[in-house]
Amino acid sequence: MPIEIKDVLSKKILTEAKGYLDVGFTHSLNPYSGCSFSCRYCYVREMPIQKFKDIPWGEWVDIKTNAAENYRSELLKLRKKNKTVNIFMSTATDPYQPIERKAAITRTILEEMIESPPDFVQIQTRSPLVTRDIDLLVELKEKCGVLVSMTIETDREDIKRIFAPSAPGISMRLKALKEVHEAGIPTQASISPVLPFSPDFPRELDGIADHIWIDTLSIGDGSMGRRSKRLGMPELFREHGLSEWYQEDIHHKVEKYFTKFFERERIRISKPEAFPIKKT
Ligand code: SF4
Repeated sequence: MPIEIKDVLSKKILTEAKGYLDVGFTHSLNPYSGCSFSCRYCYVREMPIQKFKDIPWGEWVDIKTNAAENYRSELLKLRKKNKTVNIFMSTATDPYQPIERKAAITRTILEEMIESPPDFVQIQTRSPLVTRDIDLLVELKEKCGVLVSMTIETDREDIKRIFAPSAPGISMRLKALKEVHEAGIPTQASISPVLPFSPDFPRELDGIADHIWIDTLSIGDGSMGRRSKRLGMPELFREHGLSEWYQEDIHHKVEKYFTKFFERERIRISKPEAFPIKKT
């Protein structure tokens, strides 16, 4: 699939956190707009950034070439005001999608963070490319809180191929998370959104993920499931005979199952009350 790639200058790179990030995060940081992983359930497809685009989601990426400079100046301003800065990178793109290999925007931001650290940064990705930056993450960990959160929404490659055919394979993600963990960087496996998985899934995550995050298509889409419905998720589950996995309380069932393998304090669960109900 051809992808339209453009360099852009962004006015700002840190966006004040609200909605589901309002659980300790103060800002989100998106080094790119658009995402070539193009997951079928991606809620960004239903957000204005995509709704008003002529090009389909997954077929365009804007590279924010001034992201690192913006980060530095915005962080300095926040520090002058004595503000805490807890960053979630990223909410509407993947910071390690394929273009990052060449553009290295995320890497440059991490270099800048080593010079001007936030209080905390969570790197949220589906990409094994994060291992390229282990050197910087190890250094950054000495200056601020760091968490690498790998999205592993299922352990089944056949299920991944239905819901996220262009995203990296599951075994590559598991291997990458292991590598990050072995480098001494705190790790999280983000089962987000919960997709059908095999009974062995918790065992595959044990020893490579310090924490487990559980989120669903009914909560994590930021509109209490409405965006997921508009994206045709109930139909997609039904078409593949998987409807029993599309339930509003699936996160509680998954949490219960995972507590057989993980201590409760290592499991974090997405809460509906963290999501303001918006008509979008
Ligand atoms: S990786 Fe994230 S931002 Fe990219 S398409 Fe998938 S869900 Fe959307």
